[in-house]
Amino acid sequence: MIKWFEIALWKRILAAMVLGVVVGFVWGDGVSAIAWIGQLFIRLIRMVVVPLVFVTLVSGVISMGDPSKLGSLGVRTLAIYLITTLIAISIGLILAVAMQPGMGVDLSAVAPTAVQETVPLGERLMAIVPENPFAAMVEGNILAIIFFALLLGISLLTIGDPGKPVADFMSSAAEAMLRITHWIMEAAPFGAFALIAQLAGTAGVGALLDVLGLAIAVVIACFSHMILMHGVIIMRVVLNLSAMNFFRGARDAMLMAFSTSSSSATLPISMSCAEKNLGVKPVVASTVLPLGATINMDGTGLYVGIVTVFGAQAFGIDLNFVDYLLIAGSTTLVSIGTAAVPGASLFLMAAVMDTIGMTPEQNAAVVGFILAFDRPLDMLRTVVNVGGDLSVSTAVANWEGEFDKEVFDNPLKN
Ligand code: ASP
Repeated sequence: MIKWFEIALWKRILAAMVLGVVVGFVWGDGVSAIAWIGQLFIRLIRMVVVPLVFVTLVSGVISMGDPSKLGSLGVRTLAIYLITTLIAISIGLILAVAMQPGMGVDLSAVAPTAVQETVPLGERLMAIVPENPFAAMVEGNILAIIFFALLLGISLLTIGDPGKPVADFMSSAAEAMLRITHWIMEAAPFGAFALIAQLAGTAGVGALLDVLGLAIAVVIACFSHMILMHGVIIMRVVLNLSAMNFFRGARDAMLMAFSTSSSSATLPISMSCAEKNLGVKPVVASTVLPLGATINMDGTGLYVGIVTVFGAQAFGIDLNFVDYLLIAGSTTLVSIGTAAVPGASLFLMAAVMDTIGMTPEQNAAVVGFILAFDRPLDMLRTVVNVGGDLSVSTAVANWEGEFDKEVFDNPLKN
């Protein structure tokens, strides 16, 4: 008899997903009976996000030993997050122009969907400084948690000896949280099975047929960006590392992103993959990844870009070069502001469509049209979001000398 734990985790998750699709199709609406398994699994991962980010970030800063290093790490991280997102959006726009997915699509019969007001940028920036760090933790406001954890880590570094007990406490707490994450990952096959079964049983993957052109453009853009930008350019050309090893190391996190459609729910697994498989030292993993899960969304960027052009094509709006620049700029902002939860970008893309002069009614019709098909595309774009975070963290770790090539080339078995 094959022993369960001897099978690599990613194989168990993948097999569970395939089984989930089959069960979903056969069982249909009845799958809601097992929906609780998926929900329970998501709750388990969400449970560790806040304490994991907080304690690993504080202990990561302490392990760095020199607060001034944080400056170069921060600048590099933000710069490369921005560049990769802009490239993702450009790939999306080029494909949307070349493939014309919106040509001939009739949106007049679509029931419009209310779109959400976007929070102004100034307000969003202000919220990075928490009025109360405990409230930030309770609300799960990741940027505010990062801000406070960085300050606490730096202060512990600068006070030296008196800070030691708290520093030790943080590093053992980080160990404990990573252990809990490891246990939760063992439940992933069951969670992924239930989540996928529910999707296949209720939404029906077949519904995707109606938006085939759009879906194909999104799929091609996701794959091209992941393989060309992150596999070839960052791994091969810039870092001179094996792209295969990167994708192998990132596999568990990408599968998790696919089944949960949420970068933030995937965060604990991304952090564990970065450290155990990609050789990213804790200081980089604990700073770059939580930040990336919150603000770096390559997949979301390319998706919003494609849908906007799709909408313009469907309504016969001619776009010129300046319009494309406007779309790229506002999509970057929207991708930064999108929450790392399922379907989040769907309700923010109206802000981008506004910039090219689409009316609120037209925006609502486009969102209403893609609403039903969003989930499968969300799964894909979340994989790209998470893959991008992992690739950037590997690059930053290399540049900061916080990279272990041994581990990257021979990842620990899990
Ligand atoms: N589901 C995406 C994520 O969590 C966000 C989105 O594009 O809706 O990364």
